[in-house]
Amino acid sequence: MAYDVIYKGNKLDEKILKKLLSVVPGGISIKESDRIVYARDYWPITLRWMLDGKIPALPDCIIWPENAQQIVEIVKIACEEKIPIIPYGGGSGVVGSAIPIEGGIVVDMKKMDKVLEIDDSSLMARVQTGINGMNLERHLNRKGYTLGHIPQSLYCSCLGGWLACKAAGQFSTKYGKIEDIVIAMEAVLADGTLIKSKAVPRSSTGPQVEKLLLGSEGTLGIITEATLKIWPYPEKRAMLSFAFDDIARALEAVRKIMRKNVYPAVVRIYDENETLRHFYDVKEAKNKCMLILLMEGCKELVDLEEKVASKVCKNGIPCGEEPVIHWLKTRFNVKESSEFIPKGFIFDTVEVSIAWKNALSLYKAVISAMRKVEGMVIASGHASHFYPQGVCFYFTFGGIPPKGKEAYEFYENAWDAIMEACLKSNGSISHHHGIGIIRAKWLKEEMKERIKMLKKIKRAIDPRNIMNPGKMIK
Ligand SMILES: Cc1cc2nc3c(=O)[nH]c(=O)nc-3n(C[C@H](O)[C@H](O)[C@H](O)COP(=O)(O)OP(=O)(O)OC[C@H]3O[C@@H](n4cnc5c(N)ncnc54)[C@H](O)[C@@H]3O)c2cc1C
Repeated sequence: MAYDVIYKGNKLDEKILKKLLSVVPGGISIKESDRIVYARDYWPITLRWMLDGKIPALPDCIIWPENAQQIVEIVKIACEEKIPIIPYGGGSGVVGSAIPIEGGIVVDMKKMDKVLEIDDSSLMARVQTGINGMNLERHLNRKGYTLGHIPQSLYCSCLGGWLACKAAGQFSTKYGKIEDIVIAMEAVLADGTLIKSKAVPRSSTGPQVEKLLLGSEGTLGIITEATLKIWPYPEKRAMLSFAFDDIARALEAVRKIMRKNVYPAVVRIYDENETLRHFYDVKEAKNKCMLILLMEGCKELVDLEEKVASKVCKNGIPCGEEPVIHWLKTRFNVKESSEFIPKGFIFDTVEVSIAWKNALSLYKAVISAMRKVEGMVIASGHASHFYPQGVCFYFTFGGIPPKGKEAYEFYENAWDAIMEACLKSNGSISHHHGIGIIRAKWLKEEMKERIKMLKKIKRAIDPRNIMNPGKMIK
């Protein structure tokens, strides 16, 4: 097959391969077909490249370890030989974090997929990080619990990827994001040291250094195990929806709910365009903004939350349970990239976060910036994770590159427009997808002086720069 490789990797020699094989006999592949599979994650532009016969990057091999000790040995070999290591979960990352841009060893964690222990009295589960999200949630549900972490990628992502990217689930307003859910971690650092923190609710024993791995996108170490908070499976669910005249009114209603210390599990506000796209058959919502709320937990609490939320939303038109049921049924559908990209449409989603006082102005600034990009057809947004202090907006753009322009040029122009508008509005450039390749050039402006600290930490933990090199910081 003839193809271009956009990023070319190193080559493993026979000697290194033999060493690796002695650690994981039978658990290594150097086959071209496997290397092509691991050449990309779910970063949408890479699908366009692949369809054009371009491979983003080829790893030299893929390894499937079965335990942390094997990972210790693999990392030691890689460190000695200065070979890149790229941890790999579900490959559902959407910013290119798992793409092996300098080649090397992809460590696929999927064989480390066990729930090791459930501690009912402490409401904790100890789990290996290669477990698939849906398998973990189903396992917990069968035992009468929920993790409360339900990202849209539940079926195609793993616990390690959630921790490494600081993921946020659809029920996050109640249960928290992954950093609120994780209690303790075990990880292999870049020199092969195995670290493990204690499964206690809190400790005041200096900075919790292992937490540096949260959001590190594989650049500091490989997370092998985590102890997570779990909850008894909710007794009751209540579902409400309201149509508001505009996004400002819908945001204001949610801000007031949050101020009352009421935390519905699911809170989603769709702007006019997205309301039309998702709730076209709800008459009351025509040309309006839909707010959906789902409360769950013990009956008394849910009843109270329902009462408070209904009172606060009195300016909206009640649309009943049906829109929430529709959202529940369709929430894992992702047709856009698989259906539109092959037809020449360039599409992506971008999530950012912002404090309440700047929320509306950020929303307006980003939408207007997206619309100004030449070739843009769709520019819309919704808000899907809420705090008493602010909100996460999730923008969607789609368009066709103008004549004579490369797909990537249009794509990068759209991202640049969004990132610039976000930074000007005092937002953070990512709420839960991370940095990867596409956001790397914006990290300095986001972090300002803190980037020097990040560089020092990276150099101290990974002096040979073997962990996912070329990502996060150079
Ligand atoms: C359809 C779809 C919907 C999505 N919805 C959501 C959503 O609702 N919420 C959300 O937060 N994200 C969402 N995402 C993004 C993505 O699912 C998350 O970023 C997820 O956390 C990535 O997990 P993964 O296992 O697929 O990681 P991968 O893509 O395999 O890897 C991502 C990064 O984590 C590193 N990594 C993976 N495992 C480990 C490990 N064990 N130790 C150290 N580093 C590791 C990799 O090196 C890489 O840098 C969505 C993606 C898709 C495609």
